[in-house]
Amino acid sequence: MTNRWVYSFGGGGAEGDASMKNLLGGKGANLAEMSSLGLPVPPGFTITTEACNSYYAEGRQYPADLAAQVAGGIAHIEKITQKTFGDAANPLLVSVRSGARASMPGMMDTVLNLGLNDATVEGLARLSGDRRFAFDSYRRFIQMYSNVVLGLDHHAFEEILDDHKDRLGVDVDTALTAKDWEAIVAEYKQAVDRELGKPFPQDPQEQLWGAVGAVFQSWMNDRAKFYRRMHDIPESWGTAVNIQSMVFGNLGETSATGVAFTRNPSTGEAALYGEFLINAQGEDVVAGIRTPQSLTKAAREEMGDRNPSMEEALPTVFAEFRDVAARLERHYRDMQDVEFTVEQGRLWMLQTRNGKRTAKAALKVAVDMAGEGLISKEEAVARIDPAALDQLLHPTISPDAVRSVIAKGLPASPGAAVGAIVFSSEDAERRGAAGEAIILVRHETSPEDIKGMHAARGIITARGGMTSHAAVVARGWGIPCVSGAGDIAIDLKNRNFSVRGKVFNEGETVTIDGSTGEVLAGSVKMIEPELTGDFAALMVWADEVRRLKVRANAETPLDAKTARQFGAEGIGLCRTEHMFFDEHRIAAVREMILADDEAGRRAALARIAPFQKADFVELFTIMEGLPVTIRLLDPPLHEFLPHSEEDLAAVAESTGLDPAKLMRRARELHESNPMLGHRGCRLGISFPEIYEMQVRAIIEAACEIAKSGKPAPVPEIMHPLVGKGTEMKFLKDLTDRTAKAVIAEQGVALEYLVGTMIELPRAAIRAGDLAENAEFFSFGTNDLTQTTFGISRDDAGKFLNDYIEKGIFEKDPFVSLDQEGVGDLIRIAAERGRAARPGIKLGICGEHGGDPASIAFCEEVGLDYVSCSPFRVPIARLAAAQAALAKK
Ligand code: PEP
Ligand code: MG
Repeated sequence: MTNRWVYSFGGGGAEGDASMKNLLGGKGANLAEMSSLGLPVPPGFTITTEACNSYYAEGRQYPADLAAQVAGGIAHIEKITQKTFGDAANPLLVSVRSGARASMPGMMDTVLNLGLNDATVEGLARLSGDRRFAFDSYRRFIQMYSNVVLGLDHHAFEEILDDHKDRLGVDVDTALTAKDWEAIVAEYKQAVDRELGKPFPQDPQEQLWGAVGAVFQSWMNDRAKFYRRMHDIPESWGTAVNIQSMVFGNLGETSATGVAFTRNPSTGEAALYGEFLINAQGEDVVAGIRTPQSLTKAAREEMGDRNPSMEEALPTVFAEFRDVAARLERHYRDMQDVEFTVEQGRLWMLQTRNGKRTAKAALKVAVDMAGEGLISKEEAVARIDPAALDQLLHPTISPDAVRSVIAKGLPASPGAAVGAIVFSSEDAERRGAAGEAIILVRHETSPEDIKGMHAARGIITARGGMTSHAAVVARGWGIPCVSGAGDIAIDLKNRNFSVRGKVFNEGETVTIDGSTGEVLAGSVKMIEPELTGDFAALMVWADEVRRLKVRANAETPLDAKTARQFGAEGIGLCRTEHMFFDEHRIAAVREMILADDEAGRRAALARIAPFQKADFVELFTIMEGLPVTIRLLDPPLHEFLPHSEEDLAAVAESTGLDPAKLMRRARELHESNPMLGHRGCRLGISFPEIYEMQVRAIIEAACEIAKSGKPAPVPEIMHPLVGKGTEMKFLKDLTDRTAKAVIAEQGVALEYLVGTMIELPRAAIRAGDLAENAEFFSFGTNDLTQTTFGISRDDAGKFLNDYIEKGIFEKDPFVSLDQEGVGDLIRIAAERGRAARPGIKLGICGEHGGDPASIAFCEEVGLDYVSCSPFRVPIARLAAAQAALAKK
């Protein structure tokens, strides 16, 4: 049986369709789909991703039957176009492009005008009646092919071109004649010969296979690998290759090329949005070499641009294009990102795909489309990437801030950023990694810059449009970006830029506003985002389908207020130790630690108690009857003592505590492995008076609220680091004894719960024993991950990257739950806990409670709630909704 490696499209039909993305890649599948819809697509064929995988599996050898199938694909194009590949009189020219399952913009290589050689260029000149065009196309081909396939640097070619222009005294390509291009082609070919020691390939078949091989190989280049890592794209997907008849946007004034989004990808506004260039070839728009023109008259007017829009310059073909774009959006039921070419007044569609968009646009498009009836509310909820909500929760420039505008470019990626300017991606990467806020300033960016772009807080480019590389990549990552800031003159040698005579040196601080395109001097005041409008609408829909409750980890009043503002339904973890560090309390805490006996400790604790009670009154008041889980003291006591000798001396001096005693106690408390030492409930077992004070403060606070007539809290008192049923029994007895005494003193009815964190493998395995005395479990997956792997959560940073780079860990297990190992312990604990105490309340309060993939796991195991940091609450609400929808 032979494998099928090639699928053709064009001429009003196709062998594939949009559902075949895995096999044909996104581009190939959608070209096939558009073709079947009867849209004008240049005929072509797709070599499958399986062929790419086979190529790598067989040690970079093509499958045996691929050549014959490719020949069939070429014959298919020849039949439709009535041209012949390699024929000197009537040559077929093709483009060769990569196309993976997920779009990887600019990550891989493309070759255009393939099939041109010394003979076919003459045919093209005759056929087009435009010798200048033919030789311009040939030199473009030599340049692209030499770069992508033969590995030559494009600077060599740029130099030749610049020399020519200098000699002729012209500065634009359009001033060059056919003769000029002919001479340049000859020099380009000499350059190839000189560099490689062999001539530029003239055989179209050799050219074709060279390009196919280059696309396959580009799947493994550094850019592609980095992009895959950033976006969790598996290497095993492979890339397809699309070979397609060329259409030319550079055949005169009725030809053009452009890119468009069916809605605005920055704001989500429902209006056709994009750019085009008259008399240009596709890559010119994306590369940002010429600044493109608007598609619509409205957009042109808004930009204050004098050059005509496509709507004005090419009205008939624009009307046709507008209809096609609308039809594609309805067909795919999502905002489309399309590429097109107009060849002498005739429209050709070269690509469609779901458009990348900012979080703000994603929200607006989803909410609008649900309103238009194009998608359901549930689909709208499912479409928003929870992690991308982060972008919306980021600051923008305060409307009342003083704006000292240095330069203005295009609003390429919204949001604001402040940082020090640097001029190379290497500097951005290095300084960004060191934690500095960096703004990367470039003429334009290319895929080689992505690491530096990723490390930057914001990006400025002097050239390029809204769909330039910088703009597309920055929007995808939610990094504010101003592109095409043409007033900025960059001096790479002296590492500065100047605007109208004023110089800004490397390291100077600027602010960029990616929503207006402004670059501002200095650091400008920011404001927090608004959580209304589309955001609120989507959250309501998410809440309608979500089963998991979402709580926040919060201990300060500010955290608690933020959490509620973001929609938290309670506090899942209040870490009480944070309350002890306050400057008014730390002295009493230290006194307690230094006390020689229980009586001394009780005396010090009595001084802390009123503060502690006041904390809880405030928290309960803010939470208005919502559940609040309070964890009793957890860290080892030495954390409350000063660390260095100078600090010790200073503390002794300011508190009047005995310095020798402080020193001795600090030494006594020193542990070689404090994370596994005298911490968690072990403190409560050694020093029950500490936990008694805390329980008393909690219950007294709750009684006070209940008495005042406000909604009575139901405190959930939580014990950390419990590992054994007998520990839990001791702690439950201590808690109940203390709480009941307070309730009796206060004379009010009050409910409370006593429970435990699950942070140790033993606790998970013996969850049944714990559940006898625990009314709830909260999975402390920070410690549970640490204790399951035996990897210190504080030191893992030193080597985790090695594990990730070597493919041993797919992700950092402290960020995204290790569902196999730690997850299994959670499953076991949930099952055994429920068996011992049916209906036991289960939640998670480790960092994983705010991670979408981990939240999906919590839904699967049937936990009752997740708890995460206040800023992640909206992300968790959306992720929980999506997890519920995925189960349907
Ligand atoms: C945990 O261990 O997951 C937890 C929430 O507690 P902490 O991070 O305070 O140790
Ligand atoms: Mg813990």
